[in-house]
Amino acid sequence: MRRISIFGATGSIGQNTLDLIKRAPDEYEVVALTGGQNIAQLARDAIDLRAQVAVTADETRLAELRAALSGTGVAAQAGENALIAAAERPVDWVMSAIVGAAGLAPGLKALEQGATLALANKESLVTAGPLILATAAENSARILPVDSEHSAVFQALVGEDIAAVERILITASGGAFRDWPLDELPNATLAQASTHPNWDMGQRITIDSASMFNKALELIETKEYFGVDPAKIEAIIHPQSLVHAMVGFRDGALMAHIGASDMRHAIGYALHWPERRDLPVERLDLARIGTLDFAAPDEARYPALRLAREVMAAGGLSGAVFNAAKERALDEFIAGRLRFTDMAVVVEQVLNKMSQEHDLKTAAITLDNVRDVDHLARMRADEMITITRANNQ
Ligand code: NDP
Repeated sequence: MRRISIFGATGSIGQNTLDLIKRAPDEYEVVALTGGQNIAQLARDAIDLRAQVAVTADETRLAELRAALSGTGVAAQAGENALIAAAERPVDWVMSAIVGAAGLAPGLKALEQGATLALANKESLVTAGPLILATAAENSARILPVDSEHSAVFQALVGEDIAAVERILITASGGAFRDWPLDELPNATLAQASTHPNWDMGQRITIDSASMFNKALELIETKEYFGVDPAKIEAIIHPQSLVHAMVGFRDGALMAHIGASDMRHAIGYALHWPERRDLPVERLDLARIGTLDFAAPDEARYPALRLAREVMAAGGLSGAVFNAAKERALDEFIAGRLRFTDMAVVVEQVLNKMSQEHDLKTAAITLDNVRDVDHLARMRADEMITITRANNQ
């Protein structure tokens, strides 16, 4: 039996992972499941799958989790240290599907004990790519990408030499506002931004898809994971979201990965790798689909893409600053305190200010440094948000 743990089990990726696990429960021994606010779901899945431990990130919900698990044999724990302790339990495979920078520390712990890390939490690579890769190498642990685009690139590269790669095209649906007039974007509401044309995902990544901050994170993730020159990485609009990524080689060949918009493909690939197994995903009828469209992204509509290029060029701790400022701006947009287009304004201001004040490019990428810079960037973002809100009144 393979021992597995799922971090972020109650979320969109976590639930899709559990869907696959529940189809073959005899193959897996579930060690830890973690969640945040959704205690009922966490407890239900932990009981169903006979997990050793269920952990909520929120210490104030521990009593509730304990009550839900009472008499079931599943241990209940809470808080950041409990998440780390859960990641220290020996397993063969870990799904990293916590949303945001909070996913970094448990992922690092899982790598330290040599587990294969199925990485949905792109923020880990954006904030601390070199640290994550070095930790994997030191512990002979493997990282398998779960973002559909990166899984697609990974699959296109099987048997290939990375040195023969001329370009990597990361596709983007264009999000909820692809066809909106630019001057209406500042008034986009939370409900409008929380609807994705093709994918059913968590709220934060859905809004990040509308602003293309998600694609910006993915460009940085591509640079970090595959170690390619940023000049070779492009985003391309593809409204149907069926081609997940393309890899162009020096002989002109372009390998595209095409599949349904269903995260169980990328999750299942990482779960069964290096085998391919039957997966419950739709088989595409290309004759019925008929057309696949592509277009260059408009950087006036999606300033996050320009910012991603700046972050990739600067390297070092810039990714951690970028992500932290984005997370704070997104919190404020969700809370109705920041306009949609002001998220990119705030992130750019924080990046500019922090690159003047700190040596982001050459500072060592340690967990402590990433945490410190993340904290500072959130403080700077709060200042910028206050100024931006005052200017808008
Ligand atoms: P969701 O918001 O649906 O789920 C996030 C998970 O993290 C939930 O289990 C949530 O708990 C938990 N969580 C939230 N905050 C914290 C915290 N501070 N500490 C610990 N746990 C926390 O997100 P998604 O599943 O959509 O995304 C997860 C990750 O995967 C993200 O990094 C995203 O970018 C990436 N990804 C997602 C894709 C998708 O299709 N959804 C596609 C590709 C990548 P609870 O819900 O109980 O509060």
